Amino acid sequence: MSAHPLVVANWKMNGSRADNASLLAGLLDGLRVPHVPVVICPPAPYLEQVVGLLAESELEVGGQDCSHSSSGAFTGEVSPQMLRDIGCGWVILGHSERRQYHRETDEVVAAKAAAAQAAGLRTIVCVGETREQREAGSAIDIVLGQLKGALGVGEDRGAGSGHDRRSELTQVAIAYEPVWAIGTGITATPEAAQEMHASIREWLISQDPVVGPTTSILYGGSVKPDNAQALFAMEDIDGALVGGASLDAGAFADIVSAAA
Ligand code: PEP
Repeated sequence: MSAHPLVVANWKMNGSRADNASLLAGLLDGLRVPHVPVVICPPAPYLEQVVGLLAESELEVGGQDCSHSSSGAFTGEVSPQMLRDIGCGWVILGHSERRQYHRETDEVVAAKAAAAQAAGLRTIVCVGETREQREAGSAIDIVLGQLKGALGVGEDRGAGSGHDRRSELTQVAIAYEPVWAIGTGITATPEAAQEMHASIREWLISQDPVVGPTTSILYGGSVKPDNAQALFAMEDIDGALVGGASLDAGAFADIVSAAA
């Protein structure tokens, strides 16, 4: 780890009011480490409940997605302003499940990231290659392409648009999640993950030599207590985006401890 540590729980479409309360009670009880920033991302209907349950803790809350728009005729969508309004500080964007099941492109992710940042949310922008892309030797090109696309590079927002690249990069964490490792029990080796994280770091530094070295780059894909330590020992792996294991209070607390 060389930048800010961060561990994010992506509960995906899991939970109930009762399950959330007992999971968070177990987690708060199990977290006995010096402060590592932790963000819990429950399904949208439970965000307000989780904000309330974590009000006395240092844990933060984030959405799993948001709209590109602040309000209007977008049935079923949740705006970044609404997330802020109920107490969220973060939002996950461009998760591979959104890209796969909702056909989200880099352009869509870029529009959502710009809207989220304008609303004052910090973003966790997900990137990652498929198994076919890795086997074809194009993993790094795919991931850097997603990064450039999602962070709006090349997009002319115009002079006087108020667009400030440095403050944009300050508000971002990158999650490298190889698609073949998500929910499969197969984790990238620490060395393979580090190779990708180093390329991401290099690109971030090329965008801003001051902010780039400090941007959190998280690994995601079947992170468990027994592989977290080896991943976090790598220079450019600053934390994790955790799916399945974040639904187990003890396992998630152990992953947070490994990041301390
Ligand atoms: C995820 O959904 O972002 C994820 C990494 O899931 P899992 O930890 O279950 O692989």
